Amino acid sequence: MAHFCVRCGSKLERRIIEGRELEACPNDDFVLWRDPKVASAVVVEADGGVILGRRSIEPGYGLWCLPGGFVNHDEHPADAAVRECAEEICAAVELTSLVGVYHVSKQDANSIVGVAYSARLVDGAQLKPGSEMLEVKVFPLDSLPPLAFPSHRLVLDEFLKSQARAEANSPRRAGAAVPRGVRPSPARALPRPRRTL
Ligand SMILES: [Zn+2]
Repeated sequence: MAHFCVRCGSKLERRIIEGRELEACPNDDFVLWRDPKVASAVVVEADGGVILGRRSIEPGYGLWCLPGGFVNHDEHPADAAVRECAEEICAAVELTSLVGVYHVSKQDANSIVGVAYSARLVDGAQLKPGSEMLEVKVFPLDSLPPLAFPSHRLVLDEFLKSQARAEANSPRRAGAAVPRGVRPSPARALPRPRRTL
């Protein structure tokens, strides 16, 4: 597909810049850089597990995902994370840690840099689905439903690992009957069955 310069309207031409073939304006210095988009995702902890929403929009209609979405240009990723929770699960949350940073490579669209946080519900928060969700539920970490995005699976895996590390290092657990070299199962921290909200 042809692209045109946002400054002068000329048709862009392919040019090698810094070792990459890019589209650039023949009249001025405009270059159509292929930059990633930034998105936030949030593992919101609740009684019995983590909160997922079932999507009412494409991509991934009917599948489950973490609350999250694209970061606006004037917004810190952490602020976007809190905003997306308000929009998608209608809940006020407080971020508790950075889970990780992810790169989602795409050929036919902008790649994504994902910033994942963990969070807890602010006292008294009531969950309900926002306009992009069919429903919102708490799932135990050991029985998650099919997810819309593989990157959200990576986020949840990392979250599980960080929980296991925290549990292993907790003073409460020091000297507990966990054999040396064996990580406590993170599932043990979340024994309660699925609860529908
Ligand atoms: Zn131009």
